[in-house]
Amino acid sequence: MPTPILPTDEPPLLHHAVEEAVRLLRSGEVVALPTETVYGLAANALDAAAVAKIFEAKERPTFDPLIVHLPHKNQLDTVADVPADIAQVVKQLTERFWPGPLTILLPKKPIVPDLVTAGLPTVAVRVSSNPVFRRIVATLDKPLAAPSANRFGSISPTSANAVLAELDGRIPLIVDGGASLHGLESTIIRIESGSPKPVITIVRPGPLTPDDLKPYGKVQLGSRTVLDEASDAPGQLAKHYAPRTPLRLLTRPADFQPEEGKTYALLSLSGEERDGYVGLHDWEEVMMLSPGSGKLPEAAVRFFHCLRRLDELGVDEIIAEPMFEHGMGIAMMDKLRRASINKPKPVQGHYQQRRG
Ligand code: AMP
Ligand code: MG
Repeated sequence: MPTPILPTDEPPLLHHAVEEAVRLLRSGEVVALPTETVYGLAANALDAAAVAKIFEAKERPTFDPLIVHLPHKNQLDTVADVPADIAQVVKQLTERFWPGPLTILLPKKPIVPDLVTAGLPTVAVRVSSNPVFRRIVATLDKPLAAPSANRFGSISPTSANAVLAELDGRIPLIVDGGASLHGLESTIIRIESGSPKPVITIVRPGPLTPDDLKPYGKVQLGSRTVLDEASDAPGQLAKHYAPRTPLRLLTRPADFQPEEGKTYALLSLSGEERDGYVGLHDWEEVMMLSPGSGKLPEAAVRFFHCLRRLDELGVDEIIAEPMFEHGMGIAMMDKLRRASINKPKPVQGHYQQRRG
């Protein structure tokens, strides 16, 4: 059966969509919901049978744990035990960034099914700021497990139509909350006590950047950000977020040598000539992440959408310009590296020359 999409842009429509989503979630079903990062595929996090349907619909391996979304930030202790030595920094971070795109890894309470955490002793927790999501999770009054609403390994959806392209016929409902605000998955952190400051390790880069977290501790990037298979966040495999079309991430314009008879499309930061990528070739298509200005937060919003569109063109290869590895550029470059067939290593100094 095709999956219906319920709009939320008028109060009666919103009311109906919330009722329908809550009814399905109460009955142990999965529902795709908008969040401020990307669309999530949600189920009652405390119901293992419901959570199993997320893995089934996404064809996600059960070694890949799910993020748990709380109805409210004051409910953290319903799913996690906050160690006393980091309680203060956890309080500061949740006060400052929740609701918002910050996920924190903490020791889990037994009430959280092992399926949610892939058997790990920790649980990943966050509180979404999306108004539609918040209404649904508050009405349900249960934590929701909600990974991105795409098939495993594929591109995260940032619109209801993108969810439909991934999961049509596999789930009973998609709630349409418009385009995702940030367009990139949440920043995931682990916290350890430290002297003089707590240590905050970013295990998945995202919309909240090292600079945002710096006031709360010593910030470091976890192993997964350098493409380590044995990463801190399981499921963040070296090949992830991949379009079906082979994608090549350039380090310098000179890295691109077109092959006779092959077709290419360019993923460009700004679409401007000045970086030396747009004029390299007679591209089938040039998609700009942040047309004209090359602003990283704007690029993030369009990032998965552009990858999806380029994937639909049917070219032989997608060629991606590198971008400045700063702020949200850290997360986008991490995803491009994972998606790429050539997996270039970060080059210190080189990206620094490119504006962001
Ligand atoms: P998704 O919501 O699809 O973006 O995926 C959630 C990701 O969060 C997983 O792929 C893991 O990388 C990470 N994650 C969730 N729970 C844990 C955990 N307990 N420990 C480490 N990483 C986690
Ligand atoms: Mg995902």
